[in-house]
Amino acid sequence: MTTTPAGGMPDVDRAAASRAAVAARRARAAVKEDVRSGRRSPLEVAESAWREPAGVEGGMRVRDLIATIKGLGPTRTLAILDRLGIAPVKRLGGLGSRQRAALRDWLTQRAAVAGHGRLVVLAGPTAVGKGTVSSFIRENFPEVLLSVSATTRAPRPGEQHGVHYYFVDDAEFDAMVERGELLEWAVVHNRSRYGTPRPPVDAALASGRSVLLEIDLAGARQVRAAMPEATLVFLLPPSWEELVRRLVGRGTESPEEQSGRLETAKVELAAQDEFDVLVVNDDVRRAAAEVVDLLAVPGVPSRA
Ligand code: 5GP
Repeated sequence: MTTTPAGGMPDVDRAAASRAAVAARRARAAVKEDVRSGRRSPLEVAESAWREPAGVEGGMRVRDLIATIKGLGPTRTLAILDRLGIAPVKRLGGLGSRQRAALRDWLTQRAAVAGHGRLVVLAGPTAVGKGTVSSFIRENFPEVLLSVSATTRAPRPGEQHGVHYYFVDDAEFDAMVERGELLEWAVVHNRSRYGTPRPPVDAALASGRSVLLEIDLAGARQVRAAMPEATLVFLLPPSWEELVRRLVGRGTESPEEQSGRLETAKVELAAQDEFDVLVVNDDVRRAAAEVVDLLAVPGVPSRA
């Protein structure tokens, strides 16, 4: 017998609805598994959700789709959603046209970057914002290997060994050079040595992963000689005044160091013609998007 609780659904309807909900959850889990295993791309899942918003894919939360992408944990997923202007509870089928366009752009750009192993060198004058641009790429495009350099300089507050740099002493740096472990190395600002460990770069490129090096001018020239297929990008400040403002505003260097770095910056700016691509860092997201495009395979449109 069917009983109808006051104000509620009949029990049979309730049971059918809960069976349907379980089936839909299972179907969505199967889609996620397909994406994780590479059988379907996140972009393809999104497109089918938009063709049929009431279907299985349309019922998926955007958050769950993004979280299936390798390397993106919950924190990064939320940061990406925030940047795309999509609330975490939103389902694919319920996105407005601007949100769809933003998500499609991002997924397309990711797809172009994944699996095509390109080496891009990001150089530019001190304090131009190379670190900010590369952090943005680290957060949003985890499939790009951001090389971690070895350095003989002391860590700044908050810097972690193995994350920001490998902090080594002179003897260790000498040993790395002798063993041929560095793709390039240079003395920067007449003070400390910095170098790019070669094995992780080779391994990433061999497996089809793109690599970004954020290094100084002398290092960029060495990479050009060692790996002519690399793309050399020079990040420019919007103006010289802005560069001075950023350097002084950072407040991490003594006045002596600051003037030394400004001298270096002048010399570095003069070398911009040696580079393949110039990118003006007036807006971090836009500048980062330009660099990401260079990390993608040529001929594949990475921006919709
Ligand atoms: P900072 O001491 O401010 O972290 O970095 C100083 C400079 O060293 C930056 O301009 C950065 O691009 C450069 N640098 C960082 N890592 C490397 C590296 O592995 N090789 C070279 N040649 N320069 C590096």
